[in-house]
Amino acid sequence: MFDSMLDEQIRALQADACARMESAKSLEELEAVRVEALGRKGVLAQFSKEMGKLAPEERAGAGKLLNAAKQALEEAFERRKHSFEEAKLAARLDAEWVDLTLPAAGPRPGSLHPITQIQMEIEDLFVSLGFMVLDGPEVETEYHNFDALNIPRDHPARDTQDTFWLTDGNLLRTHTSPVQVRGMERFKPPLRMVAPGRVFRNESIDASHEHTFYQIEGMMIDHDVSVAHLLYFMQTLLHEVFRRDVKVRLRPGFFPFVEPGFELDIQCFICGGSGCAVCKHSGWVEQLGCGLVNPNVLRTSGIDPEEWNGFAFGLGLTRLVMMRYGIEDIRLLQSGDLRFLQQF
Ligand SMILES: [Zn+2]
Repeated sequence: MFDSMLDEQIRALQADACARMESAKSLEELEAVRVEALGRKGVLAQFSKEMGKLAPEERAGAGKLLNAAKQALEEAFERRKHSFEEAKLAARLDAEWVDLTLPAAGPRPGSLHPITQIQMEIEDLFVSLGFMVLDGPEVETEYHNFDALNIPRDHPARDTQDTFWLTDGNLLRTHTSPVQVRGMERFKPPLRMVAPGRVFRNESIDASHEHTFYQIEGMMIDHDVSVAHLLYFMQTLLHEVFRRDVKVRLRPGFFPFVEPGFELDIQCFICGGSGCAVCKHSGWVEQLGCGLVNPNVLRTSGIDPEEWNGFAFGLGLTRLVMMRYGIEDIRLLQSGDLRFLQQF
């Protein structure tokens, strides 16, 4: 009696577990059924224990049945598991299917940033005029950024350049002018150099101010360099950048490292000089700062101002790009927005 009850229970368990394995909807569900039936604390293990209570002659029959059930369930489990794996592989093959007969996507070349483009044009121009292109560190010493340019610690010109100071006393260069100092230190006159690069100011950001922007700086040191030389090179530069004849004028301007110093204006392209919103109705647009190198600056870098003199100029590449393309918001240039950049 006891024997046939156990037999029946084993058969019922086998049928039930097999059915549930067949209908399992996931590997997790399948595994749960396996643990419940075949696990160390599963139902079959319980039956094994109970077999101990049977008479020896009954035990053999029940044991056979139990083993058969175990084997059947293990097979059902493997079968179902295999079907899950096949389905998974099929789904993956489906998803990753590639039609090798399709034509390849064409290359999508990027383009240079407009600031890089204008920088390279100006470099090419000055190289053709016999200038070197120099590079300098973006983390500068206070000496190269200020002192050597005739801007000592108590000079008011320091206040006009909101500076990022580093904890070790160095700073992020506020202009490209320190490269002039490094150029004079390294190459003695006669010297012709330009130095493009990235500069930093601790500015509040708006449509016309950025904390990071680009300048180009230039210098020529030789015998008897005059304002006429300066004007020639500046006119050549502006002609190249704007690809047209540009009318310029000089106004006195103060920069500690030049004497005399000038602001160079160009006649407004938009109105041709009659006055408009772009030129604030003056007919002229401020373009760059320049002048003849202050003798103190030459002396500091070990050049005798009695023998040598020169001119220097600096202008914002960022501003030049904005003028050339009519860009009204400086923030677009470093936004990384491809919709903007793809136009160049
Ligand atoms: Zn105008």
